[in-house]
Amino acid sequence: MRVATVLGNRPQFVKASAVSRQLRTRHEEILIHTGQHHDADLSTVFFEELELPPPEHELRVAGASNSSQLARMLRKLAPLLAKLHPDAVLVYGDTNSTLAGALGAADLGIPLVHVEAGMRSFDRAMPEERNRVLTDQLASLLLCSSERAAAQLHKEQAPGEVVVVGDVMVDVALATRERVAALGESVLRQFGLRSGEYLLATAHRAGNVDDREHLSAFVDLLENLDRPVLLPLHPRTRTRLRQHGLLARAKRAALLAAPLGYLEFATLLHHARAVLTDSGGVQKEAYLARVPCVTLRGETEWTETVATGWNTLVGLDGAAARAALAKPAPSAHPHLYGDGRAAERVVAAIAQH
Ligand code: UDP
Repeated sequence: MRVATVLGNRPQFVKASAVSRQLRTRHEEILIHTGQHHDADLSTVFFEELELPPPEHELRVAGASNSSQLARMLRKLAPLLAKLHPDAVLVYGDTNSTLAGALGAADLGIPLVHVEAGMRSFDRAMPEERNRVLTDQLASLLLCSSERAAAQLHKEQAPGEVVVVGDVMVDVALATRERVAALGESVLRQFGLRSGEYLLATAHRAGNVDDREHLSAFVDLLENLDRPVLLPLHPRTRTRLRQHGLLARAKRAALLAAPLGYLEFATLLHHARAVLTDSGGVQKEAYLARVPCVTLRGETEWTETVATGWNTLVGLDGAAARAALAKPAPSAHPHLYGDGRAAERVVAAIAQH
C-alpha cells in the first residue's frame, strides 16, 4: 500500500515517529509536511531526535489566521494528492494540517485514516475541537487511544470503522525512556533546577494566550506560585506576551526558555514536582510519568487523567491552581492509553481495512 501521511506540527511529529517506523516495514509511506510548524525548535529537532524520516514533500504553509492557513494548505495539498493518488491518507490529532489532509482525501475519494480519533473537549470555540469533529466525520478508519473515544464515535454514529489501538504517544514515551533517564542530571544542571523542586509550565492554546485579559491572568497565576517555574515558551505565546506588554512580568514570574526538544522536555517533565499546562499531549505524558498535572483549561479531552486524580482542571484560576498543587499525588496509577504497541496496531488496522 502507498500511504500519504499529512502532518505539520510538533505533537504530530512525535506521534508520526512511532507510526512511520512500523508503517515503512510493510508499506510505502510518503510524508507531506504542511509547514504549519517549520522552524528548528518546533520541527527539525523532532525529526532528528525521534528519527522521523525527512518529508518527501514540504508545502511551506505557515502563519496567517486559522481559516486562511487552511485554505492555503488545501490549495497546495489538493493537486499534490491528486498527482500521488495514494491508497490512503493518514492524519493525526486535531490541527489545520489534520483537517487539510482530511478534506484533500475526501475530495479525491481516497480512504482517510485518523489517528487519535474520537477525542472531544465539547468546546466548539476551540479550533482543535472543530478539526477533530470534522475529520472524524470524513475518516473511513478511526483509530482511538481509548475505549471512551471509541464509545464517543459510536454515539456520534461516525461513518468509519472504529478500532481502539491505544495511544501512539505512549509508544514514544516508552521507547525513549532510557535516553530520557540518562539525560537527567545534565539537563537539570543546565537549567539550574533540582529534581522534584520546580514546576514545569507550558501554554499556547489560543483561548489562553491570544487576548490580553487571559494572558495577563496566566502571568498572574505564575507570579503567585511558591516554587520556581520553568516555562519553555511556544513562539505564539512569546509573540503575544511581547504584543501585550507582558513579557517583562513573565520573565520575573518564571524562568523562560525556548521551546525544548522532545528528550529535554521529557527529562524536565519527569523531574518536575508538577506540571501546569494547556497542552493535550503534555497532560497525557505527565500521567505516564506519574507527575501531577494542573490543566489550565476548563475541560479536557483526556478525562481519564482527571478521573484518576492525577490531573486537575483549573482554567486560569490561580487559587484553584495553588490548591491543586497542594494536594498529594494519588497512590493508585491505573494503566491508561495502551501498552506502547499502538503503532503496531495502527499498521495492522490499516492493512486489514
Ligand atoms: N513538547 C516538547 N517541547 C516543549 C513543549 C512540548 O517537546 O517545549 C512536546 C511534548 O512532550 C509533547 C508535545 O510536544 O510530546 C505536545 O505538543 P503541544 O503541547 O504543542 O501540542 P498539543 O499536545 O497541545 O496538541
